[in-house]
Amino acid sequence: MSAMPDSMGLIVVGAAGRMGQSLIRAITEIDGAHLAGAIERPGSAALGKDAGELAGVGPNGVAITDDALTVFAKAEGVLDFTAPAATLEFAELAAQARIVHVIGTTGMGESDEAKLHAASRHARIVKSGNMSLGVNLLSVLVRQAAKALAAGDWDIEVLEMHHRHKVDAPSGTALLLGEAAAEGRDIGLGQHSVRVRDGHTGPREPGTIGFATLRGGSVVGEHSVIIAGEGETVELTHKATDRSIFARGAVRAALWARPQKPGYYSMLDVLGLSD
Ligand code: NAP
Repeated sequence: MSAMPDSMGLIVVGAAGRMGQSLIRAITEIDGAHLAGAIERPGSAALGKDAGELAGVGPNGVAITDDALTVFAKAEGVLDFTAPAATLEFAELAAQARIVHVIGTTGMGESDEAKLHAASRHARIVKSGNMSLGVNLLSVLVRQAAKALAAGDWDIEVLEMHHRHKVDAPSGTALLLGEAAAEGRDIGLGQHSVRVRDGHTGPREPGTIGFATLRGGSVVGEHSVIIAGEGETVELTHKATDRSIFARGAVRAALWARPQKPGYYSMLDVLGLSD
């Protein structure tokens, strides 16, 4: 497959995963980008297979490999929806190669985030717990609602449901929406979130942001921010029915980041929704 002149060469890491395959399909569909490499971990059953064939778009001549170093040297960007430990390794490689690193991986802790910020001195990192336009717009609305509806009278709860294979909770999107609510209230989410309730919990502490997690079936991702007052409730909801919304968002993020300076960006920057 020959790439158009000036087309951005993108690598997909975790190429055999659910999002990896969706990313390969999105790159194939979107003008201005082409697949420059596909990576899986050493020992993966997918090594050596044709990445396009695995993703269901027909052979594209890109064989899945575990040799990240060689592939990173030849590309302009990497799309990474894998696992926290893998993402930290890829961040080092992306910083060395000074390329764009789009990160959708969720479940990263505070020390992981610090390492990503260090890597963003050299790489252009775009990271978001959700790459869809709908959720990023929702986060702006949640911030406004949380600001307008005072903490003493209105309680904020974030409810999410995902497929049975998801390994982290609450979801990256639930935390992104919780952060938006905390920003609206001008508080830190870390000190004001209630992530689990079980047994005799006592009454709800005013001003906290609660999380509830459901898992089952093949649900791609459903999130509601419920703002409950005396006698009335406001609900802001997003439902994803197809992973391609995240994949297309990730490709769009890579194309946006291509001319930017090294730094740490969010999907709000990409979509022009940051203020
Ligand atoms: P998945 O199907 O398990 O895919 C993850 C892939 O990454 C697997 O193929 C896995 O290989 C591979 N991988 C893990 N470590 C690796 C390494 N060191 N080198 C190369 N490949 C490696 O999971 P998924 O449903 O696609 O989700 C992946 C991540 O994206 C999760 O954190 C999820 O929450 C997140 N996500 C984010 C968004 C968003 O918009 N931000 C949307 C959807 C999902 P093995 O199977 O061999 O471990």
